[in-house]
Amino acid sequence: MKVFKFGGASVNSADAVRNMAQIVQSEVGERRSDFQQPLVVVVSAMGKTTNLLEKLVPGASGGADAVALRRQLEDYHRQIARDLMPENDAVQGRLEGMLASLDALCATLAPSAECYNRNYDQVVSYGELLSTTIIAAYLEARGLATLWADARQLIITDAHHRDAHIDWSATQHAVRRLLGSVDGHRVVLTQGFIGGTADAAPLTTTLGREGSDYSAAILAHCLDAESVTIWKDVPGFLNADPKYFHDTVKISQIPYNEAIELAYYGASVIHPKTVKPLQNKGIPLYIRSFVTPDAAGSAIGDYATICPETPLYIFRNDQILLSIFPRDYSFIAEDNLQVIFGILNELGIRVNLMQNTALSFSICVDNQPQLVGHLIERLQHLFRVRYNEGLQLVTIRYYTQEIIDRIVAGRPVLLEQRSRTTEQLIVHPLPLS
Ligand code: ASP
Ligand code: MG
Repeated sequence: MKVFKFGGASVNSADAVRNMAQIVQSEVGERRSDFQQPLVVVVSAMGKTTNLLEKLVPGASGGADAVALRRQLEDYHRQIARDLMPENDAVQGRLEGMLASLDALCATLAPSAECYNRNYDQVVSYGELLSTTIIAAYLEARGLATLWADARQLIITDAHHRDAHIDWSATQHAVRRLLGSVDGHRVVLTQGFIGGTADAAPLTTTLGREGSDYSAAILAHCLDAESVTIWKDVPGFLNADPKYFHDTVKISQIPYNEAIELAYYGASVIHPKTVKPLQNKGIPLYIRSFVTPDAAGSAIGDYATICPETPLYIFRNDQILLSIFPRDYSFIAEDNLQVIFGILNELGIRVNLMQNTALSFSICVDNQPQLVGHLIERLQHLFRVRYNEGLQLVTIRYYTQEIIDRIVAGRPVLLEQRSRTTEQLIVHPLPLS
């Protein structure tokens, strides 16, 4: 069994959905007619729908005009459904029903800070529910018997909203049960990013932004799938973001551990949690382009080294570098570090780079304004804190001195860390050329 995952960009218009359906059809059509196993297809919300829904969560900051936003959301989905299936009243009806229940939900949820994350999951999950409702009907209309599966009953999680943790055994159980009900369907279509709790009255949960890759990996793990393919708007795993480099190189083979490291350093092509469930079962992950679906793409799997062997660059912008000093000029020792990490852990802030000297401890983190504000405030009760904002963290795997010099381009380096394979630098960003 294979799992395909399509992200928001691959289904952001009626034409994009047609293209996506073509990819699914050529995969399913290639099979022998007696082939029993369906293709499992995981889909994200259409285009930038998740960003829009985030603004509709009661209590979301920004004071956006909810009525106008809801209008925009409705028109966007109605238009795509109508364009794809002008005569299909059943799907328009389902769509209207879903939009009405989103409306009712937004009206009933109280804008409370305490329930914000829970409310967020209930509202934002509509993006995937809407996209899969339209796409399932469209695949059917093209003659592909499609089973719409509700990921809230498939990906079973705890109630840690916006970053829910998987209950692997309950999920395994639910996935097996789903397989028992596939009879004759050639495609099983489900939502990425969302899950549900195991309660009698289950709550919707989400797995963290960009979590649909992870959903695909979870399902593949539970299905003992033959492979996962993530369809993207890039030709595969590139050695650098084309935003910064004109001459990027596509990496055709990537070992699992290398992919985990790259995702950890901030390579945005796959969600960081995606690789482990696949590695654990030896399931290969392919990254291919929905723009050129016949091209080979990249494969993540059981390889010894990356191929071709080339330096890899990861740029993380909007970093803040905090330097923390004990007030009394005592050493930075284990007890201080324990306090600092305790605060970081409590606030759920991930450290991208750290370094210590006798009298200071420096950390580089993503500058999420509210959270980092809290962090600084908490630290300032105990320590002296200095910080620099608007920085860029550059990671270079398989560096040479010449490469480092070229990247630094004469800029002052605020912090540097080097291992045998990896160089990390904190600098002020260069303007994009
Ligand atoms: N729709 C969700 C998001 O935009 C999940 C995903 O795209 O992977 O974050
Ligand atoms: Mg996405």
